[in-house]
Amino acid sequence: MEIGIIYGLVFIIGTLFGSFFTLAVYRIPEGLDILHEHSFCPNCGGKLKARDLIPVLSYIVLGGKCRYCGKKIRIRYLILEILSGIVFLLFFLSLKFDFTYITKYQVINFIFFILYFAGLFIIAGIDKERKTIQKEVLVYEMIVSILFMVYVCISRAKVIYTYIIYLAFFAIVLLIDILIIRKNLKSNYTMSMIELALCMIAFSGTERFYYSVAFCFIYIALERIILMIKDKEKRKSIINTGKIELPMGYYLIISNIFLNILCNFLLN
Ligand SMILES: [Zn+2]
Repeated sequence: MEIGIIYGLVFIIGTLFGSFFTLAVYRIPEGLDILHEHSFCPNCGGKLKARDLIPVLSYIVLGGKCRYCGKKIRIRYLILEILSGIVFLLFFLSLKFDFTYITKYQVINFIFFILYFAGLFIIAGIDKERKTIQKEVLVYEMIVSILFMVYVCISRAKVIYTYIIYLAFFAIVLLIDILIIRKNLKSNYTMSMIELALCMIAFSGTERFYYSVAFCFIYIALERIILMIKDKEKRKSIINTGKIELPMGYYLIISNIFLNILCNFLLN
């Protein structure tokens, strides 16, 4: 019974995060404030009330429409909130906490992973919508990853030199990236992907990272096949142009989150 309440809470927190993610995905690329400014309807600009901000429920109460102008709210937001709740719950379950004995280490680890996933969700969302890896969010993710590495280094202090090599590599990548940005005045997608990969290695280790890459390609291939079967027009365009721009960051992130949860379930 009590455990059920904990699971329910984790799911609700997940949907709250999900509602924040959708807001961040919409606002960050536009350069809008994500923390202080009131939420508003993108169609009429009407300010949302506190009760309109409750994930899932407010969508159902309002019938999926804006309170002021009646414009339909994309169902994608509802789906994303629920998905975020499910991912949070699955991740929590995958850690198989023993509630009679929770260590400080487990709690800190859990918080680090939530911060890590939060950044991933936002990067994935922006990449899917705009096919760019948002630098600000990536910088946040890199800071979280480096802090996590330092924390692991201090708390376990086993083989420090691997962490030092990792951090040195990270520093070199960042330096090259800064030089590229200074030359072209804009960030490079490939460079951002390498930085994203380094963040993933920090959190999930090299082995799970390789699996994520493998899974990512299987995922893309399957999606292409389904798309080509479902949509004849698309099939023609894929075959004719032979070139498709894919939000690689998005695919890799979905794969990494999925694999982290799956490996936790199987191994812990
Ligand atoms: Zn409106």
